This record gives sequence, C-alpha cells and structure tokens, in this order.
Amino acid sequence: MSNARGADPECIFCRIVQGKIPAKLVHEGATTVAFADLNPQAPVHVLVVPKSHIATLDDLGPANGPLVGEMVLAAGEVARASGLGDRGYRLVWNCRAEAGQSVFHLHLHVLGGRPMRWPPG
Ligand code: AMP
Repeated sequence: MSNARGADPECIFCRIVQGKIPAKLVHEGATTVAFADLNPQAPVHVLVVPKSHIATLDDLGPANGPLVGEMVLAAGEVARASGLGDRGYRLVWNCRAEAGQSVFHLHLHVLGGRPMRWPPG
C-alpha cells in the first residue's frame, strides 16, 4: 500500500505540477516532472518529482516500484541533457526532518557541475 494521492492543494510541488505556481521545467514524463531548484546548491540542481502526491520515501509501497524507476531514469536524462553524463552527478533523496527534508512531496535532487564532497554534511 502506498499513501499516494492525486494532489494536495496545500503542497507547493503539487501546485508546480499543476502549473499553478511558476517553475523552470526541464523535463516531463508520464508520471514525473523535473524543474530547477529555487535555491540551487550546485551549477545544476534539478528536482524530479512524481505528479501524484507522495509525502516521503517512507510512504512508498511495492506498487510504486515503477514510479521510483521512472524518477531515477528521468534524473539520468536530466543529468545527461545538462552535460553531466561524462562528468558525473549526484542523486539525493532526503527522507524526513533529520535528513533535511523541507518539502513533503517526494523529490529526487539531481546535483552536478562541481566536485562533490563525501561524506555529505
Ligand atoms: P528538501 O530539503 O530535500 O525537502 O528539498 C526541497 C527543495 O525544494 C529545496 O532544495 C528548495 O530549495 C526547493 N524548493 C522549495 N520551493 C521551491 C520552489 N517553489 N521551486 C523550486 N524549488 C523549490
């Protein structure tokens, strides 16, 4: 079981998906949308989100396996289209407060265009 819902009117990313607030869209698939992060942490910083509202990684269920795959594939397409294919890039999922999740609509960060440090902060 997953807690996926069509849309949450209070959710900023649902509103972006619906075109109700502006964002710089860079990719759209059947189930996903990707747009530039408002507060970029790297020269390329894009968020891949599902079109349906899912709050966190922990709200995914077995039925969401294809969606997760579509998000990862979309992230790779965004990275390659941004010129990061050979250079490399980082994908980040923040789950809940201690990981730094601030928007509770599932999203996959695509980061690149500068050297990435490890461990992350
Ligand atoms: P997280 O901290 O993992 O929940 O990431 C949320 C990300 O959403 C942050 O990097 C924010 O800069 C970004 N963000 C918040 N509001 C917007 C918005 N309206 N358009 C684009 N990115 C946003």
